Amino acid sequence: QITHPQRSIVILGAGVVGLTVAYALSQDDSNKITVVARDMPEHFDSQGWASPWAGANWSPMGDFDERTSKWERITFERLWSMIPTGLVMKLTSRAYFETAVSTEWWKDIVRDFRVLSSDQEKFPEGAKFGFAFTTVSTKPTRYLRWLKGELTQRGVSFILKNVSSIEAVAAIGGDDSIVINCSGLGAKSLLGVEDNSVFPIRGQTIVVDAPHVKECIADLTPGNGKGPSECTYIIPRPDGSVILGGTFQADVWETAVNHHTARAIYERCTALEPALLPSKGTTILSHNVGLRPARKGGPRVEVENVELPLANDLVPVEVEGTRVKKTRICKVIHCYGFGSAGYQNSWGVSEEVKGLLASITIE
Ligand code: FAD
Repeated sequence: QITHPQRSIVILGAGVVGLTVAYALSQDDSNKITVVARDMPEHFDSQGWASPWAGANWSPMGDFDERTSKWERITFERLWSMIPTGLVMKLTSRAYFETAVSTEWWKDIVRDFRVLSSDQEKFPEGAKFGFAFTTVSTKPTRYLRWLKGELTQRGVSFILKNVSSIEAVAAIGGDDSIVINCSGLGAKSLLGVEDNSVFPIRGQTIVVDAPHVKECIADLTPGNGKGPSECTYIIPRPDGSVILGGTFQADVWETAVNHHTARAIYERCTALEPALLPSKGTTILSHNVGLRPARKGGPRVEVENVELPLANDLVPVEVEGTRVKKTRICKVIHCYGFGSAGYQNSWGVSEEVKGLLASITIE
């Protein structure tokens, strides 16, 4: 039983970022947490959010970035510690590149890292650099359901709602509530945020049933039948499904499956891993498109003081027929723009949000 006053925190977004932030904050019972979202972990067919469509593995993305690499390290350790639960799987992996990539920042995060040699092993055509390592993967649908279940048990409330302004989110939490904005691509059109740096990176994939395929392979070289915004990846997941990809199409909002792209993905993946052929018992489960919520300049994780009510008389009336009446500064912690790596930043960035929340409370 809670006997002390609680502070009201409203988290906008029930993607992997919003749910993990809620999990981290729910460890402190002075937080009364409400999650508001249009898409929840029951809505796995919705293309209005990214989380159901992810790989989802931990894999090194690009060069060293001080901020995100810290979050990725924390997340890797957390996911690794969850292997015994069965929600997360240990994943042996190979990745190939045409040009040199920085491995310094991640080679001691993953396990069993080694540099591959094209003298000793067959590389995909055009690949000059190859690495083997052990990482982790999860199945988004199971994982997100698990997070929501844990949160419900901890007393977190969920409201299924599409909101159009940061003010409407604050109104749900009441006077003095703190808002945490984990709205992914939603941050682009949410009144009071309207972040024009936010853009989608379209990802088309195929999910197959192939429990006999155990190794993750990523051919990140140009060529080998790939278009300019394509790569080839094969990610096995804990339930025996494997996700085959894919595309990285910046600024493309198209959510329909492109059949030509689907065929090309299938051909490239089966060439890389012949065990994916139907003759080896593999069946196609679905063709998917998800929009990764990216942001120019990287994720936005910071506190903003937003004056309410918003100075915009076009803000719709959303909560019980009213707008926020009391003029106040609402503390908003932004946490969005994770692009291709929301899963692998989730636990680390949640720690950062916890720190930001503590700094607000001390002020
Ligand atoms: P989202 O999952 O998009 O959630 C946003 C939430 O905000 C939703 O609940 C939505 O309903 C809510 N929302 C937004 N606007 C409003 C509004 N106005 N009113 C109410 N609710 C609103 N990441 C990895 O780490 N590893 C991978 O292997 C990986 N593979 C990927 C492969 C593909 C094909 C794709 C598409 C993505 C992949 N990603 C991967 C990226 C990952 O899916 C995203 O980075 C992550 O899901 C972002 O999570 P999020 O919580 O920030 O946003």
